[in-house]
This record gives sequence, C-alpha cells and structure tokens, in this order.
Amino acid sequence: MSETLTNRAGESITREDEQQLLDAVQKWLDREVRDKVLEFDHGDIYPHEMVEQMKELGLFGATIGQDYGGLGLPAGTYAKIVTVVSEVWMSLSGIFNSHLIMAAAVERFGTEDQKRAYLPRFATGELRGALALTEPNCGTDLQAIRTRAVRDGDDYVINGTKTWISNGIEGGCVALLVKTDPEAQPRHKGTSLFIAEKGPGFSVGRKLEKLGYKGIDSAELVFDDYRVPADRLIGLEEGAGFRHVMGGLELGRINVAARGVGIANAALKDATAYSQVRETMGKPICQHQAIQTKLGDMATRCEASRLLVENAAATYDRGERCDMEAGMAKLFASESALENATECMRIHGAYGYSKEFHVERYYRDAPLMCIGEGTNEMQRIIIARQLIERNPV
Ligand SMILES: Cc1cc2nc3c(=O)[nH]c(=O)nc-3n(C[C@H](O)[C@H](O)[C@H](O)COP(=O)(O)OP(=O)(O)OC[C@H]3O[C@@H](n4cnc5c(N)ncnc54)[C@H](O)[C@@H]3O)c2cc1C
Repeated sequence: MSETLTNRAGESITREDEQQLLDAVQKWLDREVRDKVLEFDHGDIYPHEMVEQMKELGLFGATIGQDYGGLGLPAGTYAKIVTVVSEVWMSLSGIFNSHLIMAAAVERFGTEDQKRAYLPRFATGELRGALALTEPNCGTDLQAIRTRAVRDGDDYVINGTKTWISNGIEGGCVALLVKTDPEAQPRHKGTSLFIAEKGPGFSVGRKLEKLGYKGIDSAELVFDDYRVPADRLIGLEEGAGFRHVMGGLELGRINVAARGVGIANAALKDATAYSQVRETMGKPICQHQAIQTKLGDMATRCEASRLLVENAAATYDRGERCDMEAGMAKLFASESALENATECMRIHGAYGYSKEFHVERYYRDAPLMCIGEGTNEMQRIIIARQLIERNPV
C-alpha cells in the first residue's frame, strides 16, 4: 500500500500524489518559466501570466484545507514545491508563500464564518495577499507597531503605515497587525490581526526598489481612516494578534528555509556543471582541489538544509510546536543559500558577475532569506530560548 502523508488537520495525500504534483510543477517551470527568468528579473516585471498558471496548478491553495477548496498539502510536500520553484526563480515562491501565511492565520485562528468567507477565494488565487506586519519604525520588535485600530460602532477605523509588504500592490487583501490597546501590558496583548481587503482608506504609498527578489512587488501601504467591519477581526478576538501572527510564521519560516534550499541547490547545480567545462592549466577546474573543497562544502550544506526543512515540516504536520525546528531550518538553510551563492560566483570567475548568467541573481536573492520572517539573529535567540525551556535543570 502506498505511503500516506498527513497534514496537521489530518488530511492525507499519497506519496504518488506528491510525486505527481512535483512533476507537474517541474514541467511547468521547465516549459513556462526557466527561459523567461532573466528577462523578468532584470526588468523587475510582475509575472502576470505565470500567476495565472500558478492558479491552475492550485499553488494558491497548496496548504489550505480541502474543505475550503485547497489542496490540503502537508507542510513537507509544500516545502518540496517551494524548493523546486526557488531553484528556478525564488521570487515566484514569494507570490504564494506570503499569501499562504495569511491563509494559515485565518485557517488556524479564524471563526468558521471567516474561513468560509475567505479561504475558498484565497485557494483559487482570486483574492491574493500577504501578511502586513512591518512598519517604518519596527520589524523585529513587532510589539512596537503604531498602526492603530479604534472601534466605531460595527467597524474599526484604522490609521497607520506598513512597509516592505510583499504582494502589497498586486494583492487585494492582507492580514493586518494593528494596535487595539496601546497601553496594554505586556505589549503583545494590545495587538490584533484583521483580514483587510483593499478599499477606501487603504492605498499603496509606493513601490519599494530592492537589491534582489525582483518581479514580486514590495510596497508601503497606507491606512487613512480605513474602515474594516468588526467581523474581520481574526477569531473575533482582540489582543491575540501577536499569537496569531506567530502561529502563521511557523509555516512562514519553513517556507523561507525551503526557498533557501532552492537557492543553495541552484548554486550547487550551476557550479557543478560549470566546473566541468571551464578549463585552466590544461584541465577542468573541478579537478583542482581548491574547487573540489568548495563543491564538497556546498553539497553538504544543501543536504543538511534539506534535512532540517524536512524535520521542521514533519514537526509542523504533527501539530507540535516547532519554533525551534523551523528556526534551525530557516537559520541554516538561509546561511547556506548565501554561502553557496558566493562560492558559485567565485567558481564562475568573471562569468559569475555577468548578468547573462543566473549566478549573480542567487547572490542578490540569498540575503533576503537571512532577513525575512524574522532575522537570523532572532532565530538564534529563539532556538536558544527553546533549548533552555525544553531542557530545564
Ligand atoms: C524584500 C522584503 C520583503 C519583505 N516582506 C515582508 C512582508 O511581506 N510583510 C512584512 O510584514 N514584512 C516584510 N518584510 C520585512 C521583514 O520582515 C523585516 O525587514 C525583518 O523582520 C527585520 O526587521 P527590520 O528590517 O525592521 O530590522 P530591525 O528590526 O530594525 O533589525 C535591525 C538589526 O538588528 C537586529 N536585531 C533587532 N532586534 C534584535 C534583538 N533583540 N537581538 C539581537 N538582534 C536584534 C536584527 O537582527 C537586524 O540585524 C520584508 C523585507 C524585505 C527586505
């Protein structure tokens, strides 16, 4: 009998289903994406047509429950999809990753009415979006946010600015972290999370220019007396925003770790191939020990990162707390992506610096993995705290 893979809600797929899905994604990447990446990335062009194809593949509903129109994939399967997509063009994964973190917050903490109203639209990709947490004055210290929601009859009125929001321009909706009680102590008890659809009072301030992660839009979002009905407060629970966000970010960190594996793998593949065709001193450079030690380290990083991601995803799928496992995977895989990108560039010599190759993109994309979904400095602290909590003396 075929092995079954089960997500944290108890929904299962078979190992064959997983392989079929991965094959379909790989075929799509080979046919529709691979040859267009340089043009789209260098032009910072939003890939509208690819987004339509991603809808058909079901990627916008990858981790959303089957009852709500999604594929209900386990995090382990989802991470493999993110990895293969990121091997070809990491930016594409951001278009459905951030969206699915928003969906995870609704699915884990929303009321049944909220799930029925939103998850089917998220699953088809008709309504796409992201998580709006970061503000100009704070990213790591989210409890210091200033965006304020004040109850007014059946609505809340929201004022403030969010920044660096992925899908902020092309998306129609965000999970929006606000302060409902600025005086609350501890500070996180004053935060709440809303499902905020675009409408009057919710506008894009500006598109942000960046080093890498091209194609996908990163934006500043402005809320100016934006009215949101009170029934869009996730779980109808004031003061629980920080907890809701942290729940969504467990999947988010597995996402980012899987993206890191994708970049690390791509760098290894390119370096392995190039080192066999480039010759110096009468032999392919892969026969020089200086290059072999680089390849050996790169391959080991890829394997270790993949195993850490698999372990974090399996812990998530079992429904267990996994901030330590997801933190380790995110930390190691993102640093591996950065190191492999650098080594790949060195192995390519001047060609690694050329815009005619993919290598320089890995080098521009990899650092984001170390910053997004909680910086690696914070991951080390999270891991250490968990280590102490799980091993009391
Ligand atoms: C391309 C891109 C896309 C993004 N997408 C989104 C998105 O969709 N939604 C969203 O909400 N945000 C998004 N972000 C924002 C991202 O999550 C934040 O940049 C990140 O959380 C870090 O916050 P910060 O930039 O404010 O850095 P800061 O919090 O100011 O940190 C600065 C430095 O200090 C370190 N530091 C801070 N506090 C501590 C501490 N207590 N101990 C040790 N070191 C510390 C940090 O690790 C970092 O090195 C995105 C960012 C980028 C670049």
